[in-house]
Amino acid sequence: MVLKSLIPCPEEQVGDSSASEGRCTAKRFLTWTKLAAIVRFDRRFRLCRKKTPPLTKIVHARTQAFAPSVFLQYFEALHSALGPQRWWPARTPFEVIVGAILTQNTSWTNVERAIGKLREAGLLTPPAILRAPTARLARLIRSSGYFRQKAKKLKAFVRFLHDEHGGSLARMFRTPTADLRAKLLGVHGIGPETADSILLYAGQHPVFVVDAYTRRILERHGHAAPRESYESIQERFHGSLPRKAALFNEYHALIVRAGKDWCRANAPRCEQCPLFPFLPALPLPPVAVPSRMHYAQSEPATS
Ligand code: SF4
Repeated sequence: MVLKSLIPCPEEQVGDSSASEGRCTAKRFLTWTKLAAIVRFDRRFRLCRKKTPPLTKIVHARTQAFAPSVFLQYFEALHSALGPQRWWPARTPFEVIVGAILTQNTSWTNVERAIGKLREAGLLTPPAILRAPTARLARLIRSSGYFRQKAKKLKAFVRFLHDEHGGSLARMFRTPTADLRAKLLGVHGIGPETADSILLYAGQHPVFVVDAYTRRILERHGHAAPRESYESIQERFHGSLPRKAALFNEYHALIVRAGKDWCRANAPRCEQCPLFPFLPALPLPPVAVPSRMHYAQSEPATS
């Protein structure tokens, strides 16, 4: 009864007198559940911001998340402003994997330097890294930072490749996407973003890579809640876009460009940004996710 007075049934609103009461009750309940989620979001927002945005604006922002075409519109806006990005800059799929591991918490310039050293030393193949002593590997990739840990991570990956797939990347990438993702996540030093970068950019598996820029843009546009899980954000893209590796490849690269050029952590340049027309009338959260250094400082340049 309370729901009925608070939330009019959409079918009744358009004058459909045949709308059944049961169907209307179900729709009211669904709307009420969404509103309750929005109010919870509003409370969280109040905690992190003294000036509280009006709930109606948040409602507007949150309801946009249910429009599946919005993410395609974002893509089109970025693509027509920036053109194709042609990621990932690497000569071989294995080099993509090495880059995906080395780029954790550092700039792409430093990664390029480390990859150059590995190439000079003839260590850019799985068997060569498998044979190389970890200390030598660490010395060569010093420029990428956290080099001892990263040397261990590279070793862990090539050992996994050798043990599970006979050292063959082609065989590894023939594994169904979900199974391979689960296996990669079990390898030391490979988290969701690295696993998905490997799957997408080295293996052309259709998985969306969620990085700090993706989170920041989605949060600011009201499509993601603070501290929302990686998988939940990724599922939003998977559910809204055609499941195509080429599209995900380009989309992630465009998001990185947008984050680097406009959607900065402390001083976003909204007026110049191609996504400005989609920005809800909300004050921007002062601090989103801390920027990933390799994106903040430099993006991979096309080779
Ligand atoms: S810079 Fe502004 S308009 Fe562009 S993505 Fe970030 S919040 Fe949106």
